[in-house]
Amino acid sequence: MTKEVKKEALLGKTLPQLTDLVAGRSWPTYVARQLAEWLYVHRAKDFESMTNLSKAIRAELNASFEPGTAEPSDVRVSTDGTKKYLFPVSSGGYVEAVYIPEGKRHTLCVSSQVGCRMGCSFCMTGRQGLRGQLSAGEIVNQVLHVPESNLLTNIVYMGMGEPLDNLEEVIGSLDILCAGYGPGMSPRRITVSTIGILPALDQFLQRSKCRLAISLHSPFHEERRQLVPMEKAHPLSQLLDSLRRHPAERQRRVSFEYIVFSDLNHSKEHVNALARLLQGISCRINLIRFHKIPGSSLQSPRQESINAFKEALEGKGIRTTIRKSRGQDIEAACGLLFTQSAK
Ligand code: SF4
Repeated sequence: MTKEVKKEALLGKTLPQLTDLVAGRSWPTYVARQLAEWLYVHRAKDFESMTNLSKAIRAELNASFEPGTAEPSDVRVSTDGTKKYLFPVSSGGYVEAVYIPEGKRHTLCVSSQVGCRMGCSFCMTGRQGLRGQLSAGEIVNQVLHVPESNLLTNIVYMGMGEPLDNLEEVIGSLDILCAGYGPGMSPRRITVSTIGILPALDQFLQRSKCRLAISLHSPFHEERRQLVPMEKAHPLSQLLDSLRRHPAERQRRVSFEYIVFSDLNHSKEHVNALARLLQGISCRINLIRFHKIPGSSLQSPRQESINAFKEALEGKGIRTTIRKSRGQDIEAACGLLFTQSAK
């Protein structure tokens, strides 16, 4: 029995990478841009439809490569209009992408890994452990191949996985999404969310113009460590020092995510400590309601507690917003993504 050889995917290659590929095959240089446009603008699913390429080139492409696109294999629709798509990936697993419509804003929350190895105590994805890294193509594919792709105004890397634990592929995907030969999105409309890993955080701020959201959750080392075990290796104080070393223009691209838990991390002491910690950093805090997960003693807070916390932070001069919970009925809300059953 002949074993089928896996072909190399083109989706996820940047224009310079396609240019190298084309040069290696002695095809005309302009073929690289044509390929990029077929993949990222026309979203071609096969080489046959790339009609401005010669038949000989299409045949060669067919022999050695695949476009690398994948359609969602399942969708769940929330009563609030949020949709959760399931995408198959080459490692054999699945990842989820969540489409969130809100007025004129159409956001897609994408995954960067299959599962995650960071083990945050409030997160279902962390319970899966790391099952695989996504390629730049598999990240970009989520954006290009959800049915609402043409409506998207914002992309957030807040799905499954820790983006800075897959830095090169994440940077590659951001380059493509912002490129003129691709969807040409503004970097201001793309946010990468991280618990903060050094030196990847520095690398990201130097190499990308996209926005960064750092998961803060507590200003106190021991308390944050209980929630985010990575605090032990990369304490928040070091992350903030690193942030301060960047010019103000880069700092402005940073916001802080703060999941509020009942009776845990929204006291007066937390407000005072946050005001001290964030001094001198131009930023915003996004408050997010915790969604209860099975087997955890952490509880969801009352809305009044979140409102009072917001007011207290604003009283200290910290710009604060409350993020609306979306897609809770389809397990699409923050911290609930989990694809083990799909396997
Ligand atoms: S919160 Fe993010 S970093 Fe932490 S386990 Fe979940 S996916 Fe991983």
